[in-house]
Amino acid sequence: MNTISPSDIARLERLVQDARKIALTAHMRPDGDAVGSCTALYHCLTDMGKDAVIVFPDPSPDYLGFITGTIDKGRLTDFESDPQGTAEAFSGCDLIFSLDYNAFHRCGKMEQTLAESTAKKVLIDHHLNPDRDLFDLVFSETGTSSTAEYLYHILLMTHRYGGDAKKLPAAAAAALLTGMTTDTNNFANSVFPSTLRMASSLLEAGVDRDSIIGHLYHEYREGRIRLMGELLSRNMKITRDGVAYIVLDRQTMEKYGLKEGDTEGFVNIPLSIGRVRMSCLFKEDEDRIRVSLRSKKGVSANRCAALYFNGGGHELAAGGKLAVPEDVKSIRDVAGYAERVTHDFMNNRENM
Ligand code: 5GP
Ligand code: MN
Repeated sequence: MNTISPSDIARLERLVQDARKIALTAHMRPDGDAVGSCTALYHCLTDMGKDAVIVFPDPSPDYLGFITGTIDKGRLTDFESDPQGTAEAFSGCDLIFSLDYNAFHRCGKMEQTLAESTAKKVLIDHHLNPDRDLFDLVFSETGTSSTAEYLYHILLMTHRYGGDAKKLPAAAAAALLTGMTTDTNNFANSVFPSTLRMASSLLEAGVDRDSIIGHLYHEYREGRIRLMGELLSRNMKITRDGVAYIVLDRQTMEKYGLKEGDTEGFVNIPLSIGRVRMSCLFKEDEDRIRVSLRSKKGVSANRCAALYFNGGGHELAAGGKLAVPEDVKSIRDVAGYAERVTHDFMNNRENM
């Protein structure tokens, strides 16, 4: 991780000090890192006596309820459920934080409302290629496990917390550890020395990691595990180029009674097979096919997502979408498309 500039911290402190109302935002279909980072910053700002609200593009998934449950009533909303309230939150605030995304288009339908706000904007993110021009202050760092970890280091540099994790509000500390835990897939990927230092200080500060792990990994719906079995035994294909892919249609999701967030982490599983170098999960959505990619070192999931799936992300973990009918006519054509483009991708030296 690069050193965080003390002058940027001073600017951040001034922006917060001068703000009357603050809105915290994250990317669409917020994951543990997005929800954890927003919740943590919300508690820190509230702790400072600031008027803060969290506005997501769409609702936070049920499995993160143990984190969002700490947010005060009426302080968490989303564009999908309340577009009017969201527009008012943006027009009525003087500072907006963008957490865990690098450009407004990652906020889906909320993009325009967000872009139109005249509030000052601060980015805190760990993705490649931040759209710097959109923001008044940019904290962007790819050499960190997660936005939650990066936010932790930023918070500790402020006068208020002065390098002492024990001074963080307890709910913020727990949310930060949760965000880091989900984005590293429980310490499996993107763990840096600074990540372990963060985890260590948060444990010392009293965060109950066992409880977080219990909520994240021991409370799944039965349908999730049964669907996982079906997908791995029947749907998963492995190409001769070492690409594993799974196509999941809505009918199957419904058959197992699953909701948004219930398939979190599925895409990682095929990577545990020796000959698999990249894993792709295609999930049928209302008007598109959502794509998740994970790769092993030496194969760029980010590049593959950008070249063939209208997306991007990190070097080894990326996502995107296929438009229907522009990219593929229907979910039935996804397998053919995946086979073709990943074959081209894996056989082009520039991508390795
Ligand atoms: P996931 O597969 O967990 O949905 O996403 C993996 C990573 O890729 C995340 O860091 C996420 O922010 C990024 N990502 C997912 N979908 C998109 C997309 O459509 N565009 C871009 N630029 N990044 C994405
Ligand atoms: Mn993240």
